[in-house]
Amino acid sequence: MTIGLDLDEVLADFINNFLAYYNDMNKTSFKQEEIYDYNVFRVWKLPKEKIMKSIYDFYKTPYFENIKPISGAVEGVEILSEKHELKIITSRQNDIKQKTIKWIEKYFPNKFSQTYFTNHFSFNGSSSKKSEICLSENVDIMIEDSPEHAIDCASVSTKVMLLNRPWNKSNKFSKNILRVQSWEEIIKNIK
Ligand SMILES: [Mg+2]
Repeated sequence: MTIGLDLDEVLADFINNFLAYYNDMNKTSFKQEEIYDYNVFRVWKLPKEKIMKSIYDFYKTPYFENIKPISGAVEGVEILSEKHELKIITSRQNDIKQKTIKWIEKYFPNKFSQTYFTNHFSFNGSSSKKSEICLSENVDIMIEDSPEHAIDCASVSTKVMLLNRPWNKSNKFSKNILRVQSWEEIIKNIK
């Protein structure tokens, strides 16, 4: 099978480091459990542009450099890579392609045949949909945490495994989207 994997909050623990950065810079104490929408500007009731600027500033800091893998992801990818073709489909911006590829190769060397960037929340260029890549690359299963991307990928008949997170817990999904609690559960379901 071809398995598509989202990067942030599936492989990379982005949000914890971004929160640490944002809280240090702004003297706030925002917490991950409170993020009921991954578009944090909606949760924090701030202009989208301000959050985008903070994210771009974050990319230049050690907070971004020091992002760690999500618990169970390294072991899980190792197991999946034995029998399946793995491709990363991330909404990260084209502006951070190089840094992102470097991070992936540090923690997941030679595990992915491709990494696709759909360039959301970008100051440069237009974004594409993850479903377009699911279609063109014949992705059988997509592993996601974002409800929007999960629904988008499921709309082209890709099966989706959605990691349970504060920002997707209120969503109800069609049967093409399976909610899972952990990497251990992803492995159990794919086997
Ligand atoms: Mg994600």
